Amino acid sequence: MVPFVSFSFLFAIVVMIAMLIFGLFLVTLAVKIIGAIVRGIFGGTRAVFRAGARPYLAAQFQHCAQVRCHALNPQGARFCRRCGKALGETLVLRAA
Ligand SMILES: [Zn+2]
Repeated sequence: MVPFVSFSFLFAIVVMIAMLIFGLFLVTLAVKIIGAIVRGIFGGTRAVFRAGARPYLAAQFQHCAQVRCHALNPQGARFCRRCGKALGETLVLRAA
């Protein structure tokens, strides 16, 4: 009787410890997932705000020289991102 009781008691303790470890694992997993989601959301919005703020800084952008394009391209870009024509050098080559 006594060994059976102690065995079932030990079994219950082992099960509880396993459940505790599994619970901790689930909690840490949930925290990691939530943290990743929060970081993704805030990092994403920050990137969007940064990307959205740049086009309004005209000094950092240049218009494509193509008559039918006039796409905004980052300053220092060598080729138009819309039509693919070379930027900057195009005007010089045409003038020459
Ligand atoms: Zn263009």
